[in-house]
Amino acid sequence: MTVTTIGIIGGGQLGRMLAMAAARLNFRTIILEPQSDCPAAQVASEQIVAPYDDPEALDALARACQVVTYEFENVPVTAAQRLQSTVPVFPPPKALEVAQDRLAEKRFLNACGIETADFRVVDSQEDLEKALADFDGRGVLKTCRLGYDGKGQRVFRSKQDDPAGAFDALGGVPLILESFVPFEREISIIAARGSDGRVLCYDPAENVHRNGILHTSTVPARIAESTSAAAREAGRKLLEALNYVGVIGIEFFVMPDGALIANEIAPRVHNTGHWTEAGCVISQFEQHMRAVGGLALGNPQRHSDCVMTNLIGDDVLDVPQWLEKPNVLVHLYGKTEARPGRKMGHVTELGA
Ligand code: AMP
Repeated sequence: MTVTTIGIIGGGQLGRMLAMAAARLNFRTIILEPQSDCPAAQVASEQIVAPYDDPEALDALARACQVVTYEFENVPVTAAQRLQSTVPVFPPPKALEVAQDRLAEKRFLNACGIETADFRVVDSQEDLEKALADFDGRGVLKTCRLGYDGKGQRVFRSKQDDPAGAFDALGGVPLILESFVPFEREISIIAARGSDGRVLCYDPAENVHRNGILHTSTVPARIAESTSAAAREAGRKLLEALNYVGVIGIEFFVMPDGALIANEIAPRVHNTGHWTEAGCVISQFEQHMRAVGGLALGNPQRHSDCVMTNLIGDDVLDVPQWLEKPNVLVHLYGKTEARPGRKMGHVTELGA
């Protein structure tokens, strides 16, 4: 079926950038998002203002679109499944199931032959103490679900770090303790799979986080060609195992010997791929819309080296200075209030 209208669940900046890329290819977009005048709705064709799991809203979206995608991984799986009974949903809801739960995610990655940090399931304070003993008192404790930007985590750096009360402090919910990974740097790969099964990857980006939030992505990453090839290969395996259509982001730790350890996956366009709108002819956003809209994938080749910097909270006050610089693409998200930790926009500097 020819796709003319694409539904997008979620109305944040990723939905905004997807809708902008879609418009250039003559796709109309409808955003499902409870907050009116959200960043995505400001540039989309239409918005349905309703909760993500509202059955009537989902049915209205399914009637109005030929395909539905999403811009965040915590879309209720039941909502994606309801849609899927009448309209294709890409990436497949299975990708949501895997990405929403760190335990399912690690098990799926391992089953695909992709290495992750060693981990233990933690369902009680007693489990935590046993798991820490296994890892010599060091590790990163994370909620299995709904953690993002470093939220819902506790780091144990040594045996002196007292775990008393840590299970309850994270809300008494299912947790996972990961062994502490002594990585040299962090990278990510943005990979795409078309409806014809073709897989293409962008160059890996090297990422720096501040206070658990992405600060910069730099391309090229300072890694060996073999490490880059391994990241692409992991992306291909994962996309094929999920029978995926669309763009995925995969974050890795790079060990001193160049080996990769997968940290997490995001079944959507990803903040560490924002550089592609300035550094490549075809951005990750267009690539995703091409894939879900049934068009041929575009060339992901990078034409420039670049550094993408997130504008978090008051960083947005620096926009006038960024606008003065040559070879800088400024992208703002249409958010009025610059709260601390809130992603307000990003800038990508070419040739940096
Ligand atoms: P995450 O929410 O899983 O992306 O974790 C946020 C950040 O915490 C990562 O980007 C790393 O810098 C750090 N981190 C997470 N897990 C580990 C780990 N197992 N070992 C060392 N550092 C970690």
